[in-house]
Amino acid sequence: MKIPDKGLDKDTVFEKLERFRDDDANWREGKTFGYVFDAGEEVNEVGKKAFTMYLSENGLDPTVYTSLLKLENEVVDMARAHLNGDENVVGSFTSGGTESCMLALKAARDYAREKKPGIKEPEMVLPATAHAAFHKGAHYFSVKPVVAPVDPKTFKADVDELRKAVTSNTIFMVGSAPSYAHGVVDPITEMGRLALEKDIFLHVDGCIGGFLLPYFKRLGAEVADFDFRVPGVTSMSMDWHKYAYCPKGSSVVLYKNKELRQYQLFACSGWTGYTVINNTIQSSKSGGPLAATWAVLNYLGEDGYLKIAKGIMEATKKFTEGIKQVEDLYIMGEPEMSLIAVTSDTVNIFHLIDEMKTRGWYIQPQLALDDYKHNFHISINPSNVQWMEALLKDLDECCKVVKPLGLGGLPQDAIDNLSAIKPEEMDATMLNNLLSMAGMDGFDLPEKMAPINELLNILPPKLADKVLIIFFNELYQSKGETAKA
Ligand SMILES: *Cc1c(COP(=O)(O)O)cnc(C)c1O
Repeated sequence: MKIPDKGLDKDTVFEKLERFRDDDANWREGKTFGYVFDAGEEVNEVGKKAFTMYLSENGLDPTVYTSLLKLENEVVDMARAHLNGDENVVGSFTSGGTESCMLALKAARDYAREKKPGIKEPEMVLPATAHAAFHKGAHYFSVKPVVAPVDPKTFKADVDELRKAVTSNTIFMVGSAPSYAHGVVDPITEMGRLALEKDIFLHVDGCIGGFLLPYFKRLGAEVADFDFRVPGVTSMSMDWHKYAYCPKGSSVVLYKNKELRQYQLFACSGWTGYTVINNTIQSSKSGGPLAATWAVLNYLGEDGYLKIAKGIMEATKKFTEGIKQVEDLYIMGEPEMSLIAVTSDTVNIFHLIDEMKTRGWYIQPQLALDDYKHNFHISINPSNVQWMEALLKDLDECCKVVKPLGLGGLPQDAIDNLSAIKPEEMDATMLNNLLSMAGMDGFDLPEKMAPINELLNILPPKLADKVLIIFFNELYQSKGETAKA
């Protein structure tokens, strides 16, 4: 496709945009889990209005847009207070959890470069349940990830295993509060002690739940300490665009003090253009996400969030109790917030996910890793609260529908053959053949995802990553008419 020779009228433009969404997951209905955090039309309106109000203001230069400096200082300070940071705690507003996590790692790396120049090949220790964002950070910033197994029953970090993983090159360790996959809080207090003993950074990843957990605690839930009150915690991340219900592009990273944050910042005077001094990865950036975050936090207030938390808490209880009645399914570990991993020994989870999709439900597959079983994940939000009974009923019925299909999986010799492929040998042609064998039509997005999930589930992670990269590399190209010369 190419830019039209003659501009379209406004109505046509918006009609087209509207139509493109026809096949998307319909999040407004509340039957989609995990992709959209929706607290209702009114909250969305507030976020949207503030977003468009500040759409054109540029976060590139806070000396020109002092409004953005003020908004950021206020938003970060609300995060500090929420996570019990003292007056020394500072931070930055970022575009999302991934950026927050990556920046904390970058700060730790640059701190070590200066303070521990003897470390030439820095390492970070992370529980197997730590978010992929840290692996991404490791990849981008050349820090070696050392993964420690978690407790196979609770799915919480095992401090003895973490201790074993620490070497003289370790600079950084991660704990989750809670973890995305199983929704459990790592033993942050014990991890803080280890971090102090070894003189390494301890980052608490509260991206998904750092915001909601304090409200759960106030409503009577048992929540172990996980924030800046814990000695040894050096940085934290928390996403506003998840359980704080702000529009996407919104997160915060906090540091124990300014001395640590300094290592996150980047300045460049060594070129011919304007002076560059960036707190975060982006340089030019819309003021929209920041203004929207300020607006939603002020609009909902503590009372608004507490009310939301109560609804979520009750719905989660309904779900975790109800799932016990579904013969084929069980919950992994004991979720401490509203993030739940469900698995089965008797039905194929991937078929179940496809079957649920035919009934309008989007539930997320999570692949197996080592001895941690594959499962499906749901994150419960206000828009989902009304659907708990219906969800349980459909899960039960869909289990019965897919049970006769068996547990699936590929024959062992096929698994062995596939696993023997070296990632660097895999290419588009080879993958195309593989996908055809799995019943897929080349690189077109399939109706049923089970075959591809099944394949990814058994491949060694490095090979699965290569498969995903090739698949996306093929997926992202226009299938429309090509530009005429
Ligand atoms: C979502 C999430 C992230 C990454 O956040 P994005 O906003 O998707 O970039 C990091 N850690 C945890 C625990 C998360 O749930």
